[in-house]
Amino acid sequence: MVKILSHTPEDTARGVIDRCADCDVCRHLMDINCLLFPELFRLFDREKETGRVIERDEIKKMIDLCNFCALCPCPNIRSEIMRAKAEFVDQDGLKKGVRLLEDVALVGKICGTFPGMANALLGSAFTGKTIKRALGIHPERKLPKFPRQSFQAWAENRGLDKRPRTREPRKVAYFVGCTASYLYPQVAKAAVAFLEASGISVWFPPQQCCGMPAYLEGDKKRALKFAQAGLEQLCDALDDGFDIVTSCPTCGFMFRNLLKSGAYYAKEYQTAIGAAPDLILTPKSENSVDGKPGFFKHKKAIYGKILVDDGVFADISALKRVKVAEHIFDIGEYVVRIGNNAKHPVNTDHIGSKMVYFPPCHQRELNMGKPYLKLLRDLYGENVSSIDGDLYCCGMAGIMGFKQDFHASSRNLGKNLLAAIGQTAPDLIVTDCLSCRLQFEQFTPYAVKHPVELL
Ligand code: SF4
Ligand code: SF4
Repeated sequence: MVKILSHTPEDTARGVIDRCADCDVCRHLMDINCLLFPELFRLFDREKETGRVIERDEIKKMIDLCNFCALCPCPNIRSEIMRAKAEFVDQDGLKKGVRLLEDVALVGKICGTFPGMANALLGSAFTGKTIKRALGIHPERKLPKFPRQSFQAWAENRGLDKRPRTREPRKVAYFVGCTASYLYPQVAKAAVAFLEASGISVWFPPQQCCGMPAYLEGDKKRALKFAQAGLEQLCDALDDGFDIVTSCPTCGFMFRNLLKSGAYYAKEYQTAIGAAPDLILTPKSENSVDGKPGFFKHKKAIYGKILVDDGVFADISALKRVKVAEHIFDIGEYVVRIGNNAKHPVNTDHIGSKMVYFPPCHQRELNMGKPYLKLLRDLYGENVSSIDGDLYCCGMAGIMGFKQDFHASSRNLGKNLLAAIGQTAPDLIVTDCLSCRLQFEQFTPYAVKHPVELL
């Protein structure tokens, strides 16, 4: 009888363990700023030295240590880690509290309908503790306050939700992201003010979560649902001549990097660009060696089994994934590209303040340099310093820092960054990531702003 061998999440994770142990680069490179690699090498060494096989539960716990900060060198390895996480969730399911927390927009809508009541309940010693326990949130984790008015309500009052029929040369569809929409609407309002001051018409199109929190938790089904809906809406805006901008580096990372991953290899894309049947074509980047646009050619006979579109998002149209990825910009990047005209900050409250700018993990992955640092220095000069070095992480990792069993790890991961910030003794921390902001607001004594609030 033929035995049918089935693939397990442990197999996927085992592939990561064996490849990384063979390579060994991250044993030292990622020993401080990542929790997964030290554990991976500890388990591997133990197995080698004692013969004690790494068990399923140990592998699952190890995989859960990845917060997808993207600091490690190999994008395919972290994708495999997330694939293993999703496979574990397929088998074991998700905790109820996590299912609710990962839907940031739903939580925002529920609590934002009666913000006074939600803040009072979450702020009370008794009910706050009970709610945290029920949702699996660590008791020491401070919960954000819900604003009296969400960005969505403000934008609707201003008519920003109506598609503008403008002849302005510059018009953008603004993908706000859930955290700015429901927790920090002042950031999204400042983004609109900054764009409008730069002569750009702003539309707030229908939108929901980009899907990243669900993806981080291994909830593939929900991540796919959100990503698919987002792509449809953004493709519609592109077809109507809008550029797409976002003020959230994680949403940008999702739409620009993650969803596109593997899409160029899809048959749908290869057919659309007219690739010959024996070739796979991939576009050159803007920074390619010869600087000329065009395609790299890969022989199908050699690369056909390696260059495949088989990631988590492969079920979504490759053309739509590529289209949005190639036309979504971070707001800072967009304004620098078109030429910033602002000579004075719209907000003058912080002139003279000593600022330190932290470029968050996912912004670094967007491969766009540090446009906000340039914009801030143009206005505030030498008062702006920056945290340099590519291996700093705040440790918050979306909703992961809230979780009971990730809280200590989250604090541990952020330690080096908080020390580096403390050495600059700032009046103000500036960062474009609102998850980092939650972490900084809880564990540093400094005020925190998004760059658009200062521009
Ligand atoms: S992530 Fe890449 S560089 Fe790091 S150990 Fe694994 S294979 Fe090597
Ligand atoms: S993405 Fe970040 S947390 Fe995950 S393995 Fe890489 S460095 Fe570690």
